[in-house]
Amino acid sequence: MRIACLSGKGGAGKTFAAVNLAAAAGEATYIDCDVEEPNGRLFLKPEKVTGTTVSCLLPDFDSEKCTGCKKCVQFCRFHALMYVREKPMVFSEVCHSCGGCSLVCPEGAITEKEKPVGVLEVGQYKDLHVVTGILNPGEASGVPVIRAALQRAQGVTVIDCPPGSACSVMESVMDADYCVLIAEPTAFGFHNFRMVYELVTLLDKKCGVLINKQDAPYEPLEEFCRSGHIPVLARIAYDPEIAALTADGKIAVEKDAGIREVFSDLLVQIRGQIGGAR
Ligand code: SF4
Ligand code: SF4
Repeated sequence: MRIACLSGKGGAGKTFAAVNLAAAAGEATYIDCDVEEPNGRLFLKPEKVTGTTVSCLLPDFDSEKCTGCKKCVQFCRFHALMYVREKPMVFSEVCHSCGGCSLVCPEGAITEKEKPVGVLEVGQYKDLHVVTGILNPGEASGVPVIRAALQRAQGVTVIDCPPGSACSVMESVMDADYCVLIAEPTAFGFHNFRMVYELVTLLDKKCGVLINKQDAPYEPLEEFCRSGHIPVLARIAYDPEIAALTADGKIAVEKDAGIREVFSDLLVQIRGQIGGAR
C-alpha cells in the first residue's frame, strides 16, 4: 500500500503529515521524495544510514567518429542537443537521459556516461524504514533521485512528495494507491489545494483531504469538497503545543494521544477506501 502526501505549497504541513502517518503505521517505509529539501529525517533521525550515489546517463560524443550529420540534434525532442563549432553539445539540464540520440547516430559516435545527480540515504527508525532522496545542489530535475527512492518502497509506504504540482510531484504519486492532500483553510491554501487536486484527478488517483491548522472552516474549501464528494479525512486545529513539538523535531504521534488518534484513524479510513490494494 503506497500513500502519497501532497500539498500545493510548502508550509501546509505535508512533512508533518507524512512523518506522523508513517510513525502511526508502525512497521512501514517512509520515503522522502521532497529531494530539494528533504526534512523528514530531521524528525525520524534514522540510524545505521547508508548512502548510495544516484546518477543519470548523458550522451558522450566521440569526435573521431562524428561526421557532423546532426541526426542526433534533429532527433532530440527535448532540444537538449546543439551543433556548435562542428560538434554536438549536450545541455545536461534539459537532457531526459532517454538514450535516443545514441540509437540514431549512424556512426556509433555516441556512448552514455554517468553523471551523479544526488544521493539516496537509507536508515532505520524503530520499525520504520527511512529512505531519503537528496538532490545535488544546482541540479535541474529531481526525477532520477525520486525514481531511485521509490524503488525502495516495501509494505505500507508513505511518500512525502515535493510541494507544488510539477513533474517531480507527478513522478512521486505515479504508483500511489492513495493521495492525502494537505490543505490550509485559507484563500491561498485553497488555491494551491485545487492545483494538486487537479493533478491527482488527472492521474485517476483516490484521494482525501487533511485540513491542517484549522481555526475555523474556510467555506470555499468546504464547499469544494462537498460538491466534489472529496472525503475530508481529518481536521487538525492549530495548536501551539503541537507546533512547539514539531519545531523541536519531535514526532507528534509519539507525544500527543489526540494526534495519535487522528493519524491512526486516517490509516483506517485510507485502508477502507483502498480496499484490496498492496
Ligand atoms: S548523429 Fe552521430 S555522427 Fe551525426 S552529428 Fe550526432 S554524433 Fe555526429
Ligand atoms: S539522451 Fe535523449 S534527451 Fe538526452 S540528448 Fe539524447 S536524445 Fe536528447
